[in-house]
Amino acid sequence: MGLRRTFLLGVMKHFAIPRIKKMVERDHSTSRIPGAILPTETSPTRFVIPLEMMKLISTRDDLSMNLAIPVRRMMSILKNEEYSVESISKNPTPVRTETTESFVEEMEDFAKGLGIGSVGYTRLSENLIFQNMGVLYKNAIVLTMEMDSDKIELAPSPETGDMIMRTYDELGIATNKLADFLRSHGYGAQASHPIGGLVLYPPLAQSAGLGWLGLHGLLITPEFGPRVRFSAIFTSIENLPFSERSEHEWIEQYCKKCGRCMRECPTQAIFEEPLVEGHRITHIDREKCFPYFTQYYGCTICVKVCPFSRRSYDELRKRVKE
Ligand code: SF4
Ligand code: SF4
Repeated sequence: MGLRRTFLLGVMKHFAIPRIKKMVERDHSTSRIPGAILPTETSPTRFVIPLEMMKLISTRDDLSMNLAIPVRRMMSILKNEEYSVESISKNPTPVRTETTESFVEEMEDFAKGLGIGSVGYTRLSENLIFQNMGVLYKNAIVLTMEMDSDKIELAPSPETGDMIMRTYDELGIATNKLADFLRSHGYGAQASHPIGGLVLYPPLAQSAGLGWLGLHGLLITPEFGPRVRFSAIFTSIENLPFSERSEHEWIEQYCKKCGRCMRECPTQAIFEEPLVEGHRITHIDREKCFPYFTQYYGCTICVKVCPFSRRSYDELRKRVKE
């Protein structure tokens, strides 16, 4: 075993794995909050990417983990993930449940100022809550943050991997700040960090009207295509402008004609017919994708080659109509 690998496995075992396990336990504590909304029997189980990566490379000598996360970045992510759980105790009592259009506008402006790309609203279905997690309110504010297009074009590369972790970190910070903003106006808020989080984000974001699920399993948004990360805030506000119907269904038709991610995936992990796992519908064979994803900086080729990452939403919509 090479020196670098021995060192990396040692850091993982004694530093990274215990910290991440602690993070998972902290997230699980949300299910013990009195009154928390809990998952159903068929709700998904969260796939903790860093833990699974470490498990994989400790059992496969032929693989190395090429997603070197700078320690400073990792500490920031863990700190903000911790804050998203612990700040629940800062919720006001009693909480306000009604808001006004002008407050929603003010909140969206505040979110944009934090680097948030788009904001959507939906009512959470229990079927999307991960096993062992608990959510305080059904009213979901779903947030996106754009990933840098130049760095996506370099995928797979260390620069792309680094940019993705930076986006997770910045979105986690912005989500906590927005949750605090709601609390400061008397509303209850529970932030769900973009890394892992409490719920399955792509279908939540789709029901919030933020885009439509593409064949690669990622949400395609009108503003940034699939070049986005998601987070959410669950709030006591009952009268948010919840999305009623989506204008983005046509993306499904586009995917049927396109299939580019399927053709260009280096491991042929994307397939045409969906696999239904409880309430999770997936087109990705994780067994095929994950070793490559681990080895090559989080891969991201399916995001890079998707036409929605490179061309405008309106231009592609016209093509479907032609
Ligand atoms: S991340 Fe890479 S390996 Fe995984 S599905 Fe996308 S293109 Fe394929
Ligand atoms: S590459 Fe094509 S098929 Fe794949 S998600 Fe994007 S539009 Fe759909």
